Amino acid sequence: MSHELQVLARIDDLFTRFGTTAYEGGRRESVSALEHALQCAQLAEWAGAPAPLVAAALLHDIGHFCEGVAGDDIHDDTHEQRALPLLGRAFGRSVLEPIRLHVAAKRYLVATEPDYAAGLSPASVHSLALQGGPMNADECEVFEAEPHAESALLLRRWDDAAKTPGKTTPPLAYYLSLLGDLAVGQAPARTVVAAFDAA
Ligand code: FE
Repeated sequence: MSHELQVLARIDDLFTRFGTTAYEGGRRESVSALEHALQCAQLAEWAGAPAPLVAAALLHDIGHFCEGVAGDDIHDDTHEQRALPLLGRAFGRSVLEPIRLHVAAKRYLVATEPDYAAGLSPASVHSLALQGGPMNADECEVFEAEPHAESALLLRRWDDAAKTPGKTTPPLAYYLSLLGDLAVGQAPARTVVAAFDAA
């Protein structure tokens, strides 16, 4: 099996084994981890995001299911970094970087948009403190200079919105096929989107 296919099989396996866990570790969020991932990817598609950013939206939290330091109520789990070694075997920076920066994007938005913090879920507010709180001016400047900062900010907004109980989305298989196309350098077929838009 090629290493790209191995990565895809691993992603499928992680979502199958852990996708039913409550999003954000059971902190009273109302969707499962898989529902959250699918909704995030769907919002990216609806916004007309390029395929690598749709992939990033699907995969942004998969680090929760990968090996690493276990987070708890007082320790951040650094989940935005934990999947990067795996994903880097199949995908480029346009997939990896928005994932790596999606926590930084939250810290940036809290620092720069007065209303942003008010819209965060209680779980997100709690993790914000563990992740370092709002960025200071120097950190904001560094973030803005990141080549994928804009994509990370877009991903962050879809992430925050991807928590609707019972929402209809395409199945995981649809996004796995998009990932498969991306991993081998093909433009993914996107025609199925319109059908789901109408649902
Ligand atoms: Fe998320």
